Amino acid sequence: MGRILDGKLIRDQILDELRPRVETLTASGRQPKLAVVLVGEDPASHVYVKNKILACEKLGIASTKITPPADLSTEDLLGIIQHLNDDPSVHGILVQLPLPKQVDAAKALHAIDPAKDVDGFHPVNGGLMLDGVPGLRPCTPSGIMELLRRYKIPIEGRKAVVVGRSGIVGKPMALMLLEANATVTICHSRTANLAEECRQADILVAAIGRAEFLGEDHIRKGAVVIDVGMNRIDGRLTGDVDPEAMARLSDSYTPVPGGVGPLTIAMLMSNTVCAVELKG
Ligand code: NDP
Repeated sequence: MGRILDGKLIRDQILDELRPRVETLTASGRQPKLAVVLVGEDPASHVYVKNKILACEKLGIASTKITPPADLSTEDLLGIIQHLNDDPSVHGILVQLPLPKQVDAAKALHAIDPAKDVDGFHPVNGGLMLDGVPGLRPCTPSGIMELLRRYKIPIEGRKAVVVGRSGIVGKPMALMLLEANATVTICHSRTANLAEECRQADILVAAIGRAEFLGEDHIRKGAVVIDVGMNRIDGRLTGDVDPEAMARLSDSYTPVPGGVGPLTIAMLMSNTVCAVELKG
């Protein structure tokens, strides 16, 4: 049976290490502050935002929540973002996704000051990542890198296969693994012979959004399997990988829940602290 890679344990380590940094910044009059913009009434988004604000409170990071109505225009949202960009007491800005259909999400995300872009979605931060410059990077893949590092899972020279190429998970994940000297393959919905590609992986990352889509045909015996997926079947949270096959075949794996999920908020907190520190 594969070893469980415990996301909660790593989350707690990351948060414990952030605490003294927050204290030092606060003592010097630079308490980190996160502003979250939550548009409309989407119940899942409300839960995510509540958890993010709770994490701030536990760590001594200040936070503010702006809750415009669901029918706001792109221009209205740009006005809110500009106001937060101009506010020197705000170090991090997060616009909770998804946004209502009438709002141009890319335009909104691109309007965030890159120095306050704690989600790491701004193209300037994407470009810096491409260049290998440290900075604000997408939280979920950076959390996975932290997990691999802290569990001392070797990456250099190994074959990594990332299934999914979204801008928030798959693509940045592949870049980070490449930066750590893995040989990286990116798969997606048009990949021919997906199972064959996946079976090459020493490290397999599933970020697809389809419940238990990868199974025993996709996992090489002894692989490390990182399951990013968060899907609901009859109210039950499940990943993108069949949990039984993953536990049976892998060397180690992230369970769902309790694997990748907890790391994302920890890295959001880390980015918020970094945003203050990088400002100097
Ligand atoms: P997206 O829907 O943006 O991207 C999904 C990717 O999977 C796409 O690149 C798509 O390919 C690929 N894909 C879809 N179907 C197939 C298929 N049949 N075979 C191969 N590839 C396929 O999702 P996200 O990246 O935003 O999220 C992925 C999953 O991770 C979701 O379950 C999400 O809930 C979860 N997630 C979890 C987080 C956490 O904190 N644990 C944070 C963020 C996301 P193509 O590009 O060709 O369409």
